[in-house]
Amino acid sequence: MRRQRHAKIVATVGPASASPDKLRELFLAGVDTFRLNFSHGTHQDHAAVHAAIRALEKDFGRPIGILQDLQGPKIRIGTLKDGALALAEGETVRFVLEGKEGDRTSIPLPHPEIFEAILPGQDLLIDDGRVRTKVTGFDTDSIEARVVTGGRISNRKGVNLPGTVLNMSPLTEKDRADLAFGLELGVDWVALSFVQRPSDLIEARALIGDRVGLLAKIEKPSALDHIEDIVRLSDAVMVARGDLGVEIPPEEVPGRQKELVRICRLAVKPVIIATQMLDSMVGAPTPTRAEASDVAMAIYDGADAVMLSAESASGQYPVEAVSMMDRIISRTEQDKAYRSIVTALRSEIEESPPHAVASAAADLAQAISASCIVAYTLSGTTASRVARTRPDVTILAVTLDESVARRLCLLWGTHSVRSEDIHTYEEMVEQAEAHARVEGLARPPELIVVVAGVPFGIPGTTNNLRVVQLRQDRER
Ligand code: PGA
Ligand code: MN
Repeated sequence: MRRQRHAKIVATVGPASASPDKLRELFLAGVDTFRLNFSHGTHQDHAAVHAAIRALEKDFGRPIGILQDLQGPKIRIGTLKDGALALAEGETVRFVLEGKEGDRTSIPLPHPEIFEAILPGQDLLIDDGRVRTKVTGFDTDSIEARVVTGGRISNRKGVNLPGTVLNMSPLTEKDRADLAFGLELGVDWVALSFVQRPSDLIEARALIGDRVGLLAKIEKPSALDHIEDIVRLSDAVMVARGDLGVEIPPEEVPGRQKELVRICRLAVKPVIIATQMLDSMVGAPTPTRAEASDVAMAIYDGADAVMLSAESASGQYPVEAVSMMDRIISRTEQDKAYRSIVTALRSEIEESPPHAVASAAADLAQAISASCIVAYTLSGTTASRVARTRPDVTILAVTLDESVARRLCLLWGTHSVRSEDIHTYEEMVEQAEAHARVEGLARPPELIVVVAGVPFGIPGTTNNLRVVQLRQDRER
């Protein structure tokens, strides 16, 4: 079971896809990593999905990634007197810390951090930015704002404060409990929502160590202000366009997306493009032309993965959405312009020996028409360095660690397998040959390129290249 494309598919699991049968269909249609969205569902629900995915893994003998997405400090208004309220453009409203009335002069906003940090002139947006207000005044427990774009607001609608940096931990009480549950369950990635600053990653890392990969969701302007440090402190990044597109003007999102992909590629961190990719497929069996183009553009940018949210979690056509994504990725990667576009974004400077060796592995494979690049990787780093060059041939990542094999289900162009421990260089070469054959990536007398860190056992070293010709006599 091997995908015939380089970029990966992440699909969010929800009511439309949580049954073992649906999960199997989704996997067969092309999902590489499943996302468990902890903004919804009970621990029991997530545990059942987790177990079903691990059972699938066993059935197919292939690692499958599981990404736990924590809700994070999502801000919401409280409950309103009549459940809803129509706000008119130009009127002045008041938000209060503890609003019992719940009318237009006391809209409850039960987050004290906001009252500490807000300043006049900043935007306070409700319901994914549908209703927009501008702060005109404040005191310790109330905020006065003028309605810029009117509309109806209702109980517990989300609030975005694009210009305000809140003194808030990226992990709420709920997140901490969810995280402990996820680590116990055995997820492969943990995603932090609403990251604001580099210290958010340090705080999370202290809790998770290197047990799982730490993924930063970029959905706040303040995260963009510290992006280099945030990327450096993360193991992967998500361009979370849903909230990002509310917090910054929509016309700025495409440029930011391209910039984030470029930064992540330079930093050797996998990057996921997320949200609304095939949004109309929530209710229709085919996407709009613009959506097909959006997925394709992310592929041309060289993103590691593209993601489905409501399309696979709660839509009417979860399997069709995955198949459609699979088709768009495959077709785009076959386009005659694809290679030159992706190669043009390759970094010119290989700043260290490990990068230079990984990059040479890709060039060498190309030059001798090797059938695949076998990357021995303890922590996933060697494979990631090779993937950064976006080679034309498949990267077969061989790792001792099952959790690393699963994490690599997010990495561009990489087919990961778990292997037995090896002790000698000759054993490595033999095992590389065997894996390449078993995975159907090469047959005698084809050539493969083996890249590794020698001596074995030191994570992060990439210092050795070997060309191996598969031998006929091993065919038996
Ligand atoms: P969410 O994150 O679906 O958890 O909000 C993704 C996004 O904001 O785009
Ligand atoms: Mn979000």
